[in-house]
Amino acid sequence: MEYDVAIIGGGPGGCATALALKQQGIAKILVVESGCYEAIRIGESIPPDTRLLLNKLGILEDFLQENHETCFGNCSSWGSDTLSYNDFLRNPYGNGWHLDRRRFNAFLAQKAVERGVEVLCGTRVDNCDRIPSEGFQLQLVGENKQTGTVTTSFLVDATGARGSFAKSLGARKLFLDRLICAIAFFQLPPSSHFSKLTLLEAVEYGWWYVAKLPNNMLATVVASEPSIIKETGLHRMENWLAYLKETKHVSKELADCSAIENLSVSLASQTKARMPMVCAAPSFRLDRTAGNSWLAVGDAASAFDPISSQGIYKALWDGLEAAKAITSYLRERRGLEEYESLIASRFDNYLTQRNYFYQMERRWPVSPFWQQRQERTGLEKGDVPAYA
Ligand SMILES: Cc1cc2nc3c(=O)[nH]c(=O)nc-3n(C[C@H](O)[C@H](O)[C@H](O)COP(=O)(O)OP(=O)(O)OC[C@H]3O[C@@H](n4cnc5c(N)ncnc54)[C@H](O)[C@@H]3O)c2cc1C
Repeated sequence: MEYDVAIIGGGPGGCATALALKQQGIAKILVVESGCYEAIRIGESIPPDTRLLLNKLGILEDFLQENHETCFGNCSSWGSDTLSYNDFLRNPYGNGWHLDRRRFNAFLAQKAVERGVEVLCGTRVDNCDRIPSEGFQLQLVGENKQTGTVTTSFLVDATGARGSFAKSLGARKLFLDRLICAIAFFQLPPSSHFSKLTLLEAVEYGWWYVAKLPNNMLATVVASEPSIIKETGLHRMENWLAYLKETKHVSKELADCSAIENLSVSLASQTKARMPMVCAAPSFRLDRTAGNSWLAVGDAASAFDPISSQGIYKALWDGLEAAKAITSYLRERRGLEEYESLIASRFDNYLTQRNYFYQMERRWPVSPFWQQRQERTGLEKGDVPAYA
């Protein structure tokens, strides 16, 4: 089977690229997704101006029908013990959202299918080889280990922070940071009222946030250094819970709605995953995000600190820009350099904001977590950062 564009990864970056390529008139597009949109996905908050991108992709009205949880802003204890509020009341685009990520990802893939994109779920791309006539041959492996090959004129790496294929095509990661997050989901009691704000709290060893999701679920996340997670045992439920109870604001918010008491029931009944879920949350960008007949989008191209809540926005934005670049490349053999410089300059903007944000927290001058965040302000080469 031959495609104009094959996209590896059917997350927000891959699906947005497919949708935007269809708008550009590209006919034969394949998305290969190793999952089936059934597993729990992490990362839920999207800012109000995401509606602009969803509108550009032609899916805003359908997205609004999905009834994800509205988010009216953020409140944070950051640089001070007291909470400060940044509500979206003054935002010209209105509210943001807390997504059910599993449902949101499935929605994007479904929209792509409706526009004529071929989406292969439960299929992994194992390998990609250049072919002499320009383009790539991909080796596919299905859930039952059946294999197959497809060829494509253009390849998009949308595999998330792993960025497996860009790496095999010669791109290297330039790291800024490598946080680890430990996450648990709570089921709220039916009658409870939980704030529609994202709550963020800095602590000596990192930071916590909590966000209310659709279906009365709460996502509660702690982020820290890999070594601190290990020392404190935050990857184990009993320790995670003990540290959570010591927070000032997050624990109060959860206690007010009896969520903590409900934790054991909710973990057993709502998810089959082991809690807390532990995942890497690195910040990096590739030294090259495009090359001869390929480019990378979303977290495969650059990944931001989850505190920015910009990962999904960034993936959708990349998809729109990547589609323009790919179309121009397929028609006139140009457009990829511009795409690369857009990704690099956006990362520079993120870097400035991220550094400013971490410098604001001065309550724990000897804490290794804060010292490292404040000292480490630029990119360094290597698959894993030197300090890891
Ligand atoms: C703890 C944490 C909290 C976060 N919170 C937020 C938040 O609040 N807001 C926000 O906007 N962002 C958040 N993010 C970041 C956000 O989740 C990512 O930026 C976003 O998912 C990137 O989308 P993507 O499509 O590039 O990659 P992904 O969502 O990672 O999708 C990549 C897809 O590729 C598939 N894949 C990988 N390899 C293969 C292969 N070989 N073959 C086929 N398929 C493959 C995977 O199954 C996956 O579905 C958070 C991240 C973390 C770690």
